[in-house]
Amino acid sequence: MRYLRDKIVIVTGAGLSAPANLPIQDKILKEMTEPPEENIIDSAMDKESVKFLSAYIQVAIYLLREYAADIDVKKIIERYKRINEIYRSNNRVLEIIDFIGTNYNFKAEEKDFNLIDVLSDTGKRFYLEPDEYCNELMLLREELREQLQKADIQICLEDIFTLFDKCITMKDNTADYTYPEIDNLQNAILRLFTFYFSNKVISHAYDKSDYLETIRYIGRHAGHIAVITTNWDILLEEYFRKNGIDFDYKFNSPYVIKSDGKLYPDADGSSSLRIPYIKIHGSINWFRCLKCGTLQICDAETCGKYLFDDSEEEKCIKCGQKAEGDAVQIKPEIITPTMMKLLNSQLYNNLWQNAAYELQQADKVVFCGYSLPLADYEFRYLLKQNIRSGTDIDVVLYHNDDPGRCTDDNMINFLPEKRYADLFPNSKCRFCYEGFGEYFAEENKRGK
Ligand SMILES: [Zn+2]
Repeated sequence: MRYLRDKIVIVTGAGLSAPANLPIQDKILKEMTEPPEENIIDSAMDKESVKFLSAYIQVAIYLLREYAADIDVKKIIERYKRINEIYRSNNRVLEIIDFIGTNYNFKAEEKDFNLIDVLSDTGKRFYLEPDEYCNELMLLREELREQLQKADIQICLEDIFTLFDKCITMKDNTADYTYPEIDNLQNAILRLFTFYFSNKVISHAYDKSDYLETIRYIGRHAGHIAVITTNWDILLEEYFRKNGIDFDYKFNSPYVIKSDGKLYPDADGSSSLRIPYIKIHGSINWFRCLKCGTLQICDAETCGKYLFDDSEEEKCIKCGQKAEGDAVQIKPEIITPTMMKLLNSQLYNNLWQNAAYELQQADKVVFCGYSLPLADYEFRYLLKQNIRSGTDIDVVLYHNDDPGRCTDDNMINFLPEKRYADLFPNSKCRFCYEGFGEYFAEENKRGK
């Protein structure tokens, strides 16, 4: 009889979310150009959120300006500015009086014109109802969407995001944008990421056998298994929740709260069976207050709308600070791999330390849908430093990564298998190319 069971660590990457059609970072742009009838935005909300539309418009204008030289967006930019000016104008009385004077001839007697007509004409020019404002933005969004589709820009939003990260760290300006504008744009992109990701997560049916086998495997090994992921989405934790599997993000911090204001995690007796679930690049349901630094964890239903609900003020539950005007109060806590080394944050220090600890204990590491990309330089280093030599390593990928199925000899060295063999020369790597669903189903059947 064995008293100590082997410790297993599962490392997951983008490939794990692919069967759920989650918008992997580089697919977000495609989501942005989907026609409205198929667009998840429309099915997710009855009336479109002004906050969402503003984020969309800002990002779309940026993309067209920077990556589609043949499309002229000047008029759209002017219109967007004008709509905002009108909507936000509270102190334009003088301009309004001037307008009336010019258009309705001040010298005329009051009886010469109908005051109601004057006011209604003037109102049309100087005042936008919130609904009209939203409609104007929707029209603008649609126009930009068509232009984006036409421009067929082939850029990964994650690259742009990284570029902004760098500008912001260096407090740099780019040719067309000032530093504060870059900061705004980065926030708009972050918000679009959380929006598209969480909508897909909410609309997922949670009945896919691939995932059910995976969490069954994890559940069977509770107490001696941990999961580390580079993904931002919250698909796996939703499967955990719906199947009664207890997990812990392992923040090691007393400054994390849930959306009900209570501390995360709950203190109860089951903690030894709680699955450590360590998200080394952050998560779309984590939000940081820019005033007090508190991290807030949202559930799937609320996190996509959290930053886009016009009826609710953007407000920190802990310190009560509200966002003023267009200012950003709550920021999604997600980072790109390139930012890792520039960042010295307590949150990521704790998460990465916990990941290192789990890897040091591992007798077996299962990589799932993780291609060991070179861009994840810091994470590769962490793996290399902490996985003991001789540890069993299973690498679970799909057909398209299989060297045996690759017809182009030149491509073989660019497939993940080569990167794994190079990084772990002293471990026995076993490669499976039938997908993680197959892999875990097989392990579950064998009682492994
Ligand atoms: Zn706060």
